[in-house]
Amino acid sequence: MKVKCRRPRRPVRRMVHRVCMTIRSCTKRHKRTFMAILHSTSALVLVGVILFLIFYDMWYVLPTIFDPEGLVYGLHWLLVVFLVCNVLGNMWAAFHCDTSVASLAIGRQKPAEGEAHLWHYCSTCQLQVPPRSWHCKACNCCILKRDHHCTFVANCVGHKNQRHFLGFVFHLFLGSGLALIYNGIYTWKYGSFLVADPLLMVASLANNITDYDAMSWKFVVATIFKLNLFAFVVALVMFSFQMILACRNSTCYKIFDRTYNLGWRQNLKVVLGNRLFWIFLWPTIKSPLPHDGSQWYIEPSGKKINII
Ligand SMILES: [Zn+2]
Ligand SMILES: [Zn+2]
Repeated sequence: MKVKCRRPRRPVRRMVHRVCMTIRSCTKRHKRTFMAILHSTSALVLVGVILFLIFYDMWYVLPTIFDPEGLVYGLHWLLVVFLVCNVLGNMWAAFHCDTSVASLAIGRQKPAEGEAHLWHYCSTCQLQVPPRSWHCKACNCCILKRDHHCTFVANCVGHKNQRHFLGFVFHLFLGSGLALIYNGIYTWKYGSFLVADPLLMVASLANNITDYDAMSWKFVVATIFKLNLFAFVVALVMFSFQMILACRNSTCYKIFDRTYNLGWRQNLKVVLGNRLFWIFLWPTIKSPLPHDGSQWYIEPSGKKINII
């Protein structure tokens, strides 16, 4: 008989394993505190980055491009305020919106006649929940048409607040794009592209370049440009991905599920509401959703069902 002999774990591996297990049990035991810290840190970092870019662009960069006393400079300020209000307004609305199963009207928290087979049981909530509702461990409840849990808005993105999440990422994309134009012009005018790489900076110091202050400032300008470019790409990817999901009526939770696809226009109405793209103008624009998220229509055998 062969006896399998296990290789003893190496001390380093054993230590890493122990640390991981301790962190895991700690986060499990103090889940609420951990989530509160994670949510507030994410929101503060995002607001901090936005405030920093506004301060840097509006006080340092834009006065070098436009006359600070002129009309164009004032118009740019208006545009920036509009974008920031939209980002923060949508962020707040997505955070404040209750999209859990408990937000349904009392009479709708149970399946309608003949629909019980479409609902499923959540063993954590110990409740029957509507189709497309899934449990979120962070929120500790079932979410209507759950998409994902967003740490920036400190809430789950689901049926009722997805429009605000889309508005939030759309204005982040526009805002970071606008800042990227300002920073691109400034970086070009300042001749900072040459020192965009830290290695070039090290090389210039090694070669005894005397104008150290100018080099340092160029390096700062180029670094901010690169960070801005990164933020723009992230916002663009997030917005495009969310729009693709909305157009196909699928979710992050079940990306490839096309069961509920009713055509892109109808699908968008399910997410954005009756006013469709007008919701991108302002977070408080009323745009009623076609249903409450407890009943979902599918397209059986190619025959479309009108849900509006
Ligand atoms: Zn649940
Ligand atoms: Zn959640």
